[in-house]
Amino acid sequence: MIVVNHIPGKEGTTMSYRWPADTIFTRLDFTVEERWCQTCGSRLTVCDHRQRRLFTLNGPVHVVCKLAHCPARACPAHPRTISPEAETALAMPWWVLGWDVVCWLGHRRFTRHWSVGQIRAELADTYQIVLSDDAIEHYIHRYQQMLAARQHDPQRLATAYADVDAVLLAIDGLQPEKGHETLYVVRELEKKRVWFAEALLSSATAEVQQLLAQARGWAERLGKPVRLWISDKQDAFVRGIAAEFPGVPHRYCTNHFLRDVAQPVLEADSRAKVKMRRTIRGLRAIEREVLAAQRTALSTHTLAPAISSVEVHRAETPPPETPPEVEARDVVLDYCTATRGLLNDDQGGPLHPPGIRMAEALGEVRASLQRNLEAQKGGLRMSDLPVWPAISTVG
Ligand SMILES: [Zn+2]
Repeated sequence: MIVVNHIPGKEGTTMSYRWPADTIFTRLDFTVEERWCQTCGSRLTVCDHRQRRLFTLNGPVHVVCKLAHCPARACPAHPRTISPEAETALAMPWWVLGWDVVCWLGHRRFTRHWSVGQIRAELADTYQIVLSDDAIEHYIHRYQQMLAARQHDPQRLATAYADVDAVLLAIDGLQPEKGHETLYVVRELEKKRVWFAEALLSSATAEVQQLLAQARGWAERLGKPVRLWISDKQDAFVRGIAAEFPGVPHRYCTNHFLRDVAQPVLEADSRAKVKMRRTIRGLRAIEREVLAAQRTALSTHTLAPAISSVEVHRAETPPPETPPEVEARDVVLDYCTATRGLLNDDQGGPLHPPGIRMAEALGEVRASLQRNLEAQKGGLRMSDLPVWPAISTVG
């Protein structure tokens, strides 16, 4: 039995829907399931009708609810109007969408990750339900509220935790933007459930402590001991957990620890990179020199057959280049390209700092050059190769 006294009309006015004149509705009639007054035992009589029109996935329906009341004027229940329960099984008060449509929306949004635009188009195409974006957003918000209520349901929670010996709790504050209120989330890690979340304007110990007390209430209702707390080392958490959960171990989150330690590591890495880039210079000068030599060699090569074809002074043409010299120029250019690539590499986070990788790679280039110098192959003179300064990998 649903008793309706006064449902605030605000949402009803914002959600009013203009139905096209040619809409064809299926009519549904609901009557109150109870036949007798629970207070005095009189037979209930119909006192009013409520008409509603709403969307279901099976098409628009016109719901007529026969509302009832106790006719005995002396009965304390007389002023109350009773609605049929079947009505809320179809749709909540003031909704223009049935439960099936709301569940469909929520599933498409949160399981399939559809955008509101996609949902709107699909609703119109497949179900001929034409809604605006903000109406869809409104109902998605409703879906979230229903989901949160279901997650909070003590009976469901008890069932979910039936086979758990103890709970592991974590608290974290998320600030969507600087200066905005922080959303504190209490999670349980054994069943990976968000227990509850609350936005707090201040992170003062007293306010945070209320959330911790709430978490203690949840654990007590479940009848499960708290084995561990995990959070960052925020003062309010450290004090609050110690006060609210005496004797329960409190571990600091490794993720936060890493994040805090990452900043100085990345800064030191960045300084080391700047230093290495400063040390290794003159790549372009080497490349220019090699390319100039290549051009000269090329022009004499293409010129040579022309001169020989008119048979003039064969002795004056320069001797053709030996393959090792051509090869050596390519090798030098390859070294330059590789080195430039290493110096421009900025990828990698705190766990793989780019500066360390750069130092290691430059060390390899240097060792490789050293091997070439020692081999002294191809008639290459020492002065043709750039000499690389030692790179410190300590930084
Ligand atoms: Zn009565």
